[in-house]
Amino acid sequence: MLPESEIPTAWYNIQADMPNKPYPLLNPGTGEPLKAEDMFPIFCEECARQEVNTTDQYIPIPDEVREKLAFYRCTPLVRAYDLEKALDTPAHIYFKNESVSPVGSHKLNSALAQAYYAREEGTTNITTETGAGQWGAALSYAAKAFGLETAVYMVKISYEQKPYRRSIMQTFGATVTASPSMSTRAGKDIITKDPNNQGSLGTAISEALELARTTPHCKYVLGSVLNHVCLHQTVIGQEAEKQMEMAGEYPDIVIGCFGGGSNFSGIAFPFLKHNILDGKKTRFIAAEPASCPKLTKGVYLYDFGDVAGYTPLLGMYTLGHAFQPANIHAGGLRYHGAGSIISRLLKDGYIEAVDIDQLKSFAAASLFAKTEGIIPAPESSHAIAAAIDEALKCKESGEAKTILFNLSGHGLIDMSAYDKYLAGDLTGGGVSDEEIARTLKESGLDPSKAL
Ligand SMILES: *Cc1c(COP(=O)(O)O)cnc(C)c1O
Repeated sequence: MLPESEIPTAWYNIQADMPNKPYPLLNPGTGEPLKAEDMFPIFCEECARQEVNTTDQYIPIPDEVREKLAFYRCTPLVRAYDLEKALDTPAHIYFKNESVSPVGSHKLNSALAQAYYAREEGTTNITTETGAGQWGAALSYAAKAFGLETAVYMVKISYEQKPYRRSIMQTFGATVTASPSMSTRAGKDIITKDPNNQGSLGTAISEALELARTTPHCKYVLGSVLNHVCLHQTVIGQEAEKQMEMAGEYPDIVIGCFGGGSNFSGIAFPFLKHNILDGKKTRFIAAEPASCPKLTKGVYLYDFGDVAGYTPLLGMYTLGHAFQPANIHAGGLRYHGAGSIISRLLKDGYIEAVDIDQLKSFAAASLFAKTEGIIPAPESSHAIAAAIDEALKCKESGEAKTILFNLSGHGLIDMSAYDKYLAGDLTGGGVSDEEIARTLKESGLDPSKAL
């Protein structure tokens, strides 16, 4: 355990250290790179400035944000002795436990920062999308902590599959709408085309953006993908670095599950800094679902962040914004693209990616629950599965590597998914190359123009 006084005082901005900078956001109308000011109408101004900051290596964390982080930070770093034993591996497996936050996931790290800046800038209302509900829950709580009203568009399939996440948001005082909904033009368009549309993060983002645009004193906040969100998550890796040092270890492999990239960035970037600047050779593995494989099968292109095409264009690994992910239970990983920083780092060989089948992720989750006593979020289970794979490779080679993964959240509100797994009702499966080619085309993207 680290005391509160060890909570980082600044976020680590990897953009400053990257030899090749991420591609800038583009205005889809003009094709010009966006300046911070261009984003002020939609985003909090300070977040917009952080988004495009490629020069400051560290950005101070405001005192009031640190005070709220202290409700649950520093989070524990745990050595998974019993998991090691069950795998009979010489590897040392550590996990950073972000599930201890009041809302059960890492998402609060950025929600608190964004709600703080919104209040500082005189905003009264914030709106967002949520997939499985973790981001919505984190934001609803963070908004109340800073005296703001919140409207959350929740992906319809999750709204139905995960009613308790909705109740959590409502308990914190948020208004929650299933997306696609009839309350926005974007939602109406989607429902008109496809009345049974179950929603995706892409559709929910379109609706929240539209509300922010059409409501005074309302800003849009995002829980992943964007550079400033990844920045806010770097408290995870900075703490982990100190904690590993106390344990007398340094990771050979760092693993995070991957939706839009925020928890992976959070655990990875502070260590990746030493690969870039000090010649360390740590491997960084992003674990994504086989049913939404943007890093392992996507193409590096400029694409929209949402289904309706309201966002700026992002230079990212993408399956195409028209990609409709299968209804897997790791709702937080059902996103068609990867953040610009991660995409650049993957392209340049600083990080790797693996895809994990849903059934394999639940098998890993079960073993982890039995050995470590924590029921992981279905999202986090992808990181666990990747960590187990690496630990088993160590068993074969006899190498005692040090593996660190991020436990991004607990699964106590996802028990219906575990029920299905136990009953044998869950399916696995990936996405065919033909399907990806089709959705890229539907999204107006040409793979031969890859960045
Ligand atoms: C949202 C979420 C994720 C995926 O989002 P990233 O931005 O990729 O981290 C992973 N795990 C949990 C528990 C989540 O809530």
